[in-house]
Amino acid sequence: MKAQTVHVIGAGPAGLMAAERLAQAGVAVVVHEAMPSAARKFLMAGRGGLNLTHSEPLEAFVGRYGDAAPTVAGWLERFSPTHLVGWVEGVGQATFVGSSGRVFPKAMKASPLLRAWLARLAELGVEVRTRSRWTGGLRGPDGGLEPRFATPEGERVERADAAVLALGGASWPRLGSDGRWTDPLSAAGVEIVPLRPSNMGFDIDWSPVFAERFAGQPLKNVALSHGGRTVRGEAMIAAYGLEGGAVYALSAALREAIARDGSAELVVDLRPDLDAGALAGRLARPRGKDSVSNWLRKAGGLSPAAVGLLREIPGEIPQGAEKLAKRIKAVRLRLTGAQGLARAISSAGGVKLHQVDDRLMLKALPGVFAAGEMLDWEAPTGGYLLQACFASGVVAGEGARDWLAER
Ligand SMILES: Cc1cc2nc3c(=O)[nH]c(=O)nc-3n(C[C@H](O)[C@H](O)[C@H](O)COP(=O)(O)OP(=O)(O)OC[C@H]3O[C@@H](n4cnc5c(N)ncnc54)[C@H](O)[C@@H]3O)c2cc1C
Repeated sequence: MKAQTVHVIGAGPAGLMAAERLAQAGVAVVVHEAMPSAARKFLMAGRGGLNLTHSEPLEAFVGRYGDAAPTVAGWLERFSPTHLVGWVEGVGQATFVGSSGRVFPKAMKASPLLRAWLARLAELGVEVRTRSRWTGGLRGPDGGLEPRFATPEGERVERADAAVLALGGASWPRLGSDGRWTDPLSAAGVEIVPLRPSNMGFDIDWSPVFAERFAGQPLKNVALSHGGRTVRGEAMIAAYGLEGGAVYALSAALREAIARDGSAELVVDLRPDLDAGALAGRLARPRGKDSVSNWLRKAGGLSPAAVGLLREIPGEIPQGAEKLAKRIKAVRLRLTGAQGLARAISSAGGVKLHQVDDRLMLKALPGVFAAGEMLDWEAPTGGYLLQACFASGVVAGEGARDWLAER
């Protein structure tokens, strides 16, 4: 009997994982990638060390997905952080847990993992066609699945028994995922939440002196608060404002507040490990001949960037240890805008989760499955993005496999 053929569209982590599961079941798999090579965003993620997943308990882990948590929990049951670590090791890449609980490959980059993975897929018979851009068509004249692709040789129409869409979100569009798939899928009756930046920096109206002097410098071990939530970690001063892990963790709430109110307040505690009383005690020491900045560095334990930030707030630095301690523990910044999709780590929005069934098949398009960042969930950085992409790739790949087996 002729093997059934599935066309997987998008060679990122979600698509390649779906391809692997299908090929392991003996299905003929063709992966289409619009770019000249596979998984460019995954390789870019490797530049930051490739934070694959997180080692925290599953209950806390699932909570990172906000409103989408109940759905993502189902994916993680099928492919948990433990499964992901086992899979990465199985591809020949050792992993380790960093001090923050984040999990990385020992190589601290994506290229060796991707190379080994593509070799494994080739052994399984998966064909990866690069420069093959899905142009939006899915159904042929007889109602069969006939996805259409723009290739250097012209348009190609394929005949498929099923298809997996893993087209990514819309951040960093130059790496391939540009969100252009939203139009054809909307036209096919799939409900989509508009794609918006997630895990991005925010605009702050810095003085030119501050921006020039401190852009690119980190604020280490700070606590950021917004809307009743506090996150500890690192923020990075940028010429346009503030970015970095702790900012990204609050980015969904900050984005919504700015959309609603035009701006948002972010409160920075520059010494979260000292309470206001202990800090005031240190600041009560006489300044002697030190300049204010030097004294703040020594007595307050502040970095030059932190002192710069204190000075950036309009008005004088408060006199008196208690008032000063209060200021250091609550520097109020006004965020006036959010950075766009071009520089965001990920995107929010996408195919509404009620548009797919438990196997991740699109209800409006039987035989067409969807996985990865193109689905409507968002999460902070910390390994939660890749984990959900891999896990949903497993669910969609196995879903397509089972659906084909039943037919
Ligand atoms: C700078 C940066 C750093 C990151 N670091 C991390 C990290 O450390 N940890 C983490 O968890 N996450 C990280 N991420 C996020 C993570 O990389 C993404 O969430 C993940 O790659 C999404 O996987 P995906 O398979 O859904 O989509 P993608 O990786 O975007 O893959 C989709 C693929 O589909 C292709 N495609 C799109 N349209 C078409 C079409 N019409 N036809 C054919 N092919 C098409 C694209 O070219 C792309 O290759 C980072 C992202 C960025 C930008």
